[in-house]
Amino acid sequence: MIQTKAYAAQSPETDLAPWTFERRDVGAHDVQIEILFCGVCHSDLHQIRNEWFPGIFPMVPGHEIVGRITQVGDHVKKFAAGDLAGVGCMVDSCQVCYNCKDGLEQYCVEGNTQTYNNLGRDGVPTYGGYSNTIVVREEFVVSVSDKLDLAAVAPLLCAGITTYSPLKYWGVGKGHKLAVVGLGGLGHMGVKFGVAFGAEVTVLSTSPAKEADAKALGAHHFVVTSDEEQLKAVQGSFDYILDTVAADHNIPLYLSLLKTNGTHILVGAPPKPLEIPAFALIPGRKSVSGSTIGGIAETQEMLDFCAEHNIVSDIELINIQDINQAYERMVKGDVRYRFVIDIASL
Ligand code: NAP
Ligand code: ZN
Repeated sequence: MIQTKAYAAQSPETDLAPWTFERRDVGAHDVQIEILFCGVCHSDLHQIRNEWFPGIFPMVPGHEIVGRITQVGDHVKKFAAGDLAGVGCMVDSCQVCYNCKDGLEQYCVEGNTQTYNNLGRDGVPTYGGYSNTIVVREEFVVSVSDKLDLAAVAPLLCAGITTYSPLKYWGVGKGHKLAVVGLGGLGHMGVKFGVAFGAEVTVLSTSPAKEADAKALGAHHFVVTSDEEQLKAVQGSFDYILDTVAADHNIPLYLSLLKTNGTHILVGAPPKPLEIPAFALIPGRKSVSGSTIGGIAETQEMLDFCAEHNIVSDIELINIQDINQAYERMVKGDVRYRFVIDIASL
């Protein structure tokens, strides 16, 4: 077994604190990665606080993992020791269902195995990237370019692919008006990809102070959602809304900003059910849909796209000892725009 250092929550009521545990030895199809950086996703916070469902404790969060491969199993073909690699939200899936065969492991009919807060197919709990090393089967490891700032690449493994995948699926690009709701970790990546794909991008934000940043990220317009005049000006104007909000929010208000046939795409996952009156949808043949992360091949495609177009996340690098404060700031929407843990601090 491999001794592993980590930060864990022992219960939904406790802060994260140092913890050690054992990971499995490197199997024939496994890759071991020395973790260098791990992004901090709002999903980490939802899960350590049991906001979605009862979690498995102790919990080591973290699913935006980048590092260097230290060891590979005998049958590993794609990777070698010394390579830079990434791991996102999944570490396994059945590999044989129609979704897995289609490269949609995130929608595996048996359910994919999440990087943490899940039981692996061996029945052992999974532990995430707030730790110094991880062992993952090769199919769920992606290659990371050495051209980009590695710390700023980490958030691409979740915030990046979660926004890239739906924009690709719905073909959002030239000639489309896209609104991104919430300028946080996911939102700022949604802006970058929307702009890169040629869409006209508007940020819908609760934080007037983020306007200059939104424009610097490439957004063409910025709307403060508490300002009625500004909202009125964009009524019925968007083809797509990418909704990254982590908390309770007024969906009908956003639906009123869609054009006829417009689509509201939920990637944010607020704990409480959202209220959607029929009359927010039927008069304009509008759709509400959802999307989660992306498949492994698509994650690699996204990373390659980012390397080619020089796209990374805007990050604030923190030591792991600062994680609990970082969560407090994240709840307040005070992230510019993703915390990334320097695992060397562990
Ligand atoms: P984040 O960095 O905290 O960003 C969320 C942003 O939403 C905030 O910065 C804020 O932006 C806005 N916001 C917060 N409270 C709001 C409210 N009450 N009403 C309207 N806007 C509000 O979080 P994140 O890491 O991007 O994650 C966002 C959500 O996506 C979380 O629920 C997370 O669990 C989920 N998620 C889903 C997937 C998936 O696969 N679908 C993957 C990763 C994360 P402004 O200041 O601009 O308003
Ligand atoms: Zn995430």
